[in-house]
Amino acid sequence: MSPLPLIMLRSGKEEGPRRRHPWIFSGAVAKKDPGIKEGDAVEVRSSKNDFLGIGHFSESSIMVRLFCFNLEDYGDQFWEKALGDAIRYRYSIGLGSDEKTNAYRLVFGEGDGLPGLIIDLYAHTAVIQCHTFGMWNARQRIAEALHLHLDDRLKAVYDKSADTLQKRGLKVENTYLTGAADHESLVRENGYSFRVDWEQGQKTGFFLDQRDNRNLLSRYCRGKRVLNTFSYTGGFSVYAMMGGASRVDSVDVSERAIVMAQENMRRNDPGYMDAGFHTADTFDYFEQHEGEHDVIVLDPPAFAKHHDARHQAVMGYKRLNTEAIRKIRKGGILFTFSCSGVVDRILFESTVRSAAINARRNVRIMHHLSHPADHPASIFHPEGEYLKGLALFVE
Ligand code: SAH
Repeated sequence: MSPLPLIMLRSGKEEGPRRRHPWIFSGAVAKKDPGIKEGDAVEVRSSKNDFLGIGHFSESSIMVRLFCFNLEDYGDQFWEKALGDAIRYRYSIGLGSDEKTNAYRLVFGEGDGLPGLIIDLYAHTAVIQCHTFGMWNARQRIAEALHLHLDDRLKAVYDKSADTLQKRGLKVENTYLTGAADHESLVRENGYSFRVDWEQGQKTGFFLDQRDNRNLLSRYCRGKRVLNTFSYTGGFSVYAMMGGASRVDSVDVSERAIVMAQENMRRNDPGYMDAGFHTADTFDYFEQHEGEHDVIVLDPPAFAKHHDARHQAVMGYKRLNTEAIRKIRKGGILFTFSCSGVVDRILFESTVRSAAINARRNVRIMHHLSHPADHPASIFHPEGEYLKGLALFVE
C-alpha cells in the first residue's frame, strides 16, 4: 500500500492512542500533511515521529478515529481480518448458532476497534451504518468481507448511511451494496418473531441493544398490567405479553411504529386481546393516565447528543421519571433507560434519584442495566457504553 498522509501530534498527546483510545482530538494535532480530505486514511505519529496508529480523518473536533495500531496489519487483508475478528467474537458468545436469535449486531464501532462503523444482521441481510466518510469509502471492501465470512448466511448488504452522514454534511443515498430487498424481514429474537423494516425504520431498523433487557422484563410481567412507552415496534411489549402480562399498553408518537408494534404483537400471539396501542406523546399519555400499570418501561430516544444539550436532557429525564414513579401502582416495577452518550451512568442514577424524591415514593434498585454482549465496549473507550438503565421497585 502506498504511504499514507501523516498527522503529527503535539508533545504529550501520545498517551491516549498508546492506551488504544481511538480518538484524536483536533487540539492534539501539531501539524498535518497538506491535501488531507474528509474520510482519508491517515497515519498518526507522536511528536518524536513514532508510529501511533492509522485512522480516518474528519474535519471535526474528533479529527482522527484510529482503527489500526500496528503498521504491519494495514495491508490488503485488513478489512477481511477486522470483520472476521468481529464475526468470530459474535460466534464465540453463542450468536450465529443460536436458533432462537438471528438478529444481532456484527460490528459495534469503537467496541470492535472499528470507529464509525455499525453493522447489524437481520436474518440474511446485513445493514451497514457509517458514521464517518472514511468508513463509507471502505463500504465495498466491508461488504465483500462480510460475504466472505458469512457465506450463504448472507444474501444482501444494505447501506443505510444517508442519515448519519448527512449530520456530517455529506450527501449520500441509502442503497443495496449487494443483493436486493427481497430477503426475509422476519427475524427471531429469543424465539419471538419481529418484522424489521430496515429501509424505512429508525436507525438500522430494530433496537437490538435491548435484547437482554426485554428478556429480563418478561420475568416480571406475569399477571401484570404493563405500560411500554417509547415502544417503537413493540420490542418490550411482545416480551411482556409472552411473559404473561394481563394487559400491555404501547405508546409511541410514530404512527408507523405503532402499526408495526400491533403487527408484532399479533404475530407472536394472535389470540391476545388485552393490548392497547396509542399513537401519542408519552408526557401527554401520563397526564391522562394514573395508577393503571404495575410495570412501566421508559426507553426514550437520546435526549442529548452533545454536551451543550446535557442540562436540558437531564431535566427531561427527571420529568419523565418523576411522572412514571408517581403514576405506577404500589409495588410496581419500572424499567428506565437513557441512551444519551453524554449522560453517564452516575448522572443518570442521580437524576432518577431526584425523580424519586420529587415523586415522594420509596424506590429500590433491582438491576443495573446495559447493552448486551454483541455491543461490547472497549475498556480503553468507556464512552462506548451509551445505554444505561435501572430496574426499580417502587413501594
Ligand atoms: N424501546 C424501543 C426503542 C425505543 S426508540 C424498542 O425496544 O424497540 C425511541 C422511540 O421513541 C421511537 O420509536 C420514537 O418514535 C419514540 N418517541 C420519540 N419521542 C417520543 C415522545 N415524546 N413520546 C412517545 N414516543 C416518542
